[in-house]
Amino acid sequence: MGIRSVFDGGELRREFEKNGIDGKFVGIIWKHVIGNNAKRESGEWDWEKQVPSLPSSAYSVLRSNFGGTKPLSSSLHSVFHSSDNLTSKLLIKLHNGEFVEAVIMRYDTRLGKYAGKPRPGGLRATLCISSQVGCKMGCKFCATGSMGFKNNLSSGEIVEQLVHASAFSQIRNVVFMGMGEPLNNYSAVVEAVRIMTGLPFQLSLKRITVSTVGIIHAINKLHNDLPGLNLAVSLHAPAQDIRCQIMPAARAFPLEKLMNSLQEYQRKSLQKILIEYIMLDGVNDGEQHAHQLGKLLETFQVVVNLIPFNPIGTLSQFKPTSEQKVSNFQKILRGTYNIRTTVRKQMGQDISGACGQLVVNIPDKSLARAEPLTDIEDLVI
Ligand code: SF4
Repeated sequence: MGIRSVFDGGELRREFEKNGIDGKFVGIIWKHVIGNNAKRESGEWDWEKQVPSLPSSAYSVLRSNFGGTKPLSSSLHSVFHSSDNLTSKLLIKLHNGEFVEAVIMRYDTRLGKYAGKPRPGGLRATLCISSQVGCKMGCKFCATGSMGFKNNLSSGEIVEQLVHASAFSQIRNVVFMGMGEPLNNYSAVVEAVRIMTGLPFQLSLKRITVSTVGIIHAINKLHNDLPGLNLAVSLHAPAQDIRCQIMPAARAFPLEKLMNSLQEYQRKSLQKILIEYIMLDGVNDGEQHAHQLGKLLETFQVVVNLIPFNPIGTLSQFKPTSEQKVSNFQKILRGTYNIRTTVRKQMGQDISGACGQLVVNIPDKSLARAEPLTDIEDLVI
């Protein structure tokens, strides 16, 4: 076995079991690894010193199979902060030499409204996390899609993004909206979410959102595996032909079957589904599309999030929709179909950390300043 992440919980437990070591030590090890950021980053990690009181056989398992003298299998290569400091992009180097990105988005809940009053709370942070290196779905508006697929992350590599990010902000929400299609890496994502909601992270499942293009067979089992999880669906078009045009993978997942599976998911979970809809000028942003979308979603409990398109340089064949057209689209969904519809404000454009921009690249400091926005949690709860 090669070097694994200590946060590959299943693997660590199996190795401990094989060596007669009590599984209760797993949580203790994680707590020390998370809490000892300075030693972790200094390269002076000593398992005996940093995690005292483990059985001696546990140290040899950790050293031989789980990172040797390093507590994490990945390392933080660099961090870019947006000019307003609301967004930070973490470039993380994996053990195999590949890179993934994770983005921290900071919010002030008091800026949001709930029942007409400012929301309680204060500053909180959401981490946008990657589940694969690259992505095989090839969505034409997405920077990651242009990279192609390289490999799946292990559950530990997914969790390590949270560990790296926790050194900068206290993370309250996690969204699987970074690089990759999470449901194409199903078992690792499910295990990672279970680890994040257990000790010592203890994130609430209600504060974790998995975003998918609509992998029907995976949606069908998601509620049983992770009841309470938030589901976001990148719908992006109200008709199968437009979906196929901008999301080639949609051919394998016919819209009608996808909507049936979402209906079933909602019946079991009783939760709102977040519908993501990227606005592409002249492609899916006309009034007729708004009406088609409204009819498609009329019987669902959903929140539609309209996403202004981020151009991805010369690779892009699309143009952003004008603000006026976005606003008309929103009015139709709200006014005619009574569907809660928000427009996603852009965060972190100056560091290429906005939706569809997660591809390993160097930030362009010349782009516009981002503004605070409504947290995803405020949308789906
Ligand atoms: S939008 Fe998501 S599913 Fe589509 S190519 Fe990009 S990362 Fe993959």
